[in-house]
Amino acid sequence: MVSPRQELEEVFSWMKEQLTQFEELGLDPPPLSAQCMAYLDQEPVAPVSKEMDLDRIETLEELSAFIGKCTRCPLHRGRKHLVFGEGSPKARLVFVGEAPGREEDLIGRPFVGEAGRLLTRIIENGMGLKREDVYICNVVKCRPPRNRDPEKEEVEICLPFLKRQIQIIRPEVICILGRVAAQALLGKDFKITQDRGKWNSFEGIPVMPTYHPAYVLRNPRAKRPVWEDVQQIMARLGLEVRKNA
Ligand code: SF4
Repeated sequence: MVSPRQELEEVFSWMKEQLTQFEELGLDPPPLSAQCMAYLDQEPVAPVSKEMDLDRIETLEELSAFIGKCTRCPLHRGRKHLVFGEGSPKARLVFVGEAPGREEDLIGRPFVGEAGRLLTRIIENGMGLKREDVYICNVVKCRPPRNRDPEKEEVEICLPFLKRQIQIIRPEVICILGRVAAQALLGKDFKITQDRGKWNSFEGIPVMPTYHPAYVLRNPRAKRPVWEDVQQIMARLGLEVRKNA
């Protein structure tokens, strides 16, 4: 079945042909904005492979190589770096955010901006772990333009990669950061204010959803609930909660 995006791609491709014919005939093309012309000049999006056999991939390195310079969804167009994820392949705890931001896109590493520094403080000062002991990644691996939420189709195309990452690492706990990632993994009905702090599961692995660190930076009152959620994770992992953390 042809998806709405494929239909649109076909319409745009037809428009491009028409414009080329106008030019060849020496006619002035119809007045289109510079933005529209730039869009029409882009390379077509590579079709999504229907036979992605990820189950045979057994390591994170193999998965990263398989993803390669991915063009499976439109997010590849604006990225500087694909942000695969980083940390221990044997991590007991995996953090999942929604998408790389500006700094992550520039460097190619997850959670390295201001929100990332807060996450690192939670991991190191709060939980008493090292950042390299856990694994940190996102639902989509390329930065959405202007940091908008990833679209449903972009999430659907990229999500199998995250699923395989999680299946390979097989952590004891997943901590989901924020509404967008929680809805991608737990379903559209997830409501961050009412459902955070409650255990859920993904791929049979216990999941603790909490606020995104960027939200905590904007709303310092969210610090306490995040710390409560983190303490639940620590209890599950058998980590000692330090009084002065
Ligand atoms: S977001 Fe995911 S599916 Fe889209 S281009 Fe990047 S790696 Fe590929």
